[in-house]
Amino acid sequence: MIPDPSGPLGGRLGALRAAAGRETLGLYLHIPFCLDRCTYCSFTTTRDRELQPATVARLRREIRAWGAALGRPAADTLYLGGGTPSLLSPIELADLTADLRGAFDLDPLEEATLEANPGTVDLAWLAAARTLGWDRISLGVQALDDGLLARLGRIHGAAQALEALALAERAGFRRRSADLMVGIPGQSLSKVIEDARALAATGIEHLSIYLLDLDKACPLKAEVEAGRLALPTEDEVADVFEALQAELPRLGLAPYEISNYARPGAESRHNSRYWERRPYLGLGPSAASQMGDLRWTESGVIPAWIEDRGTPEIQELDPAEALAEIPLLGLRLHRGVDWGDLRNRAGALNLRPLAEAWEARLRGLEKEGLTVWEGDRVRLSPRGMLVSNGILEMFV
Ligand code: SF4
Repeated sequence: MIPDPSGPLGGRLGALRAAAGRETLGLYLHIPFCLDRCTYCSFTTTRDRELQPATVARLRREIRAWGAALGRPAADTLYLGGGTPSLLSPIELADLTADLRGAFDLDPLEEATLEANPGTVDLAWLAAARTLGWDRISLGVQALDDGLLARLGRIHGAAQALEALALAERAGFRRRSADLMVGIPGQSLSKVIEDARALAATGIEHLSIYLLDLDKACPLKAEVEAGRLALPTEDEVADVFEALQAELPRLGLAPYEISNYARPGAESRHNSRYWERRPYLGLGPSAASQMGDLRWTESGVIPAWIEDRGTPEIQELDPAEALAEIPLLGLRLHRGVDWGDLRNRAGALNLRPLAEAWEARLRGLEKEGLTVWEGDRVRLSPRGMLVSNGILEMFV
């Protein structure tokens, strides 16, 4: 969406500009193209590569328009996600990078991450990205088993995933992350641990562990519903996460968020801003943004987004919703939440009874071994992390 005074955010542009002047932004670009569609995927992505030139042109226009509308604000993290950003040509990537540098003040830049599919990268592309200043790469490995990868509809095998990690290192990416998936039909606990060990042995600094999510319609969900494939039980999944919680720190990868493990100092700075409720601007179809208490999501209909005729979803959080997001997101982090600070904020908003009700429940959960209080700071225990959905729903 172009930030036009007559557009959906028109009346709020002044407030957004002020917010962007107060706090450094994170910038996210969504690249909605994939060579093939994975069987579990419900992201905004398409195989129609004919749309790619128009999408990149539109993204370039959006970057420049938003930079101008917000007064060329400072940004300290960049994230190129998808879809498959590694389907951008080096020239397209160079153009987008140059536009980001022109439209935003990137002097404070701490991290520039791009996601890549192991089936789409070669050394030349990786070296070009590295030369352009992208310094962190996140590879969607998902599993190191060709049968499971085929079941997921991934376009790469296990050897290709390991090769992509090695190529990224050769291209100069010292900061490498991998995604591993849990809960795939047919995946054993011992195989997950074996894959985590093999990935840690590549020297990656960061590992994201995701549970297979079949909430939305997709071919894999249809297979499961037809009884042709069986998902692991909740207990089996909990066993896997518990085993990973024990094993990954031994491999040098400490948990810092429910789904994320890192070597010391290698936490994802961009993703951390989501859990810390720091502002971010997302550009591209279905990209989400949040500044202050305003949140919006771009249209996920790619042709409509390209022509700026999609309808973004805009949400203005009321004070109670904004307050609830602090523990809702912050308790995902292993360092937890400063409850003294939350109590003060609640007092300033006349919401003290709400904060007291949450506190009583979180203190009650300590007796069940699900939360840990240290002075005024609260966090989820390892067991609490395993049942976090049930705990965090009190803030929704
Ligand atoms: S590579 Fe990622 S975005 Fe593309 S189809 Fe697979 S899961 Fe979806």
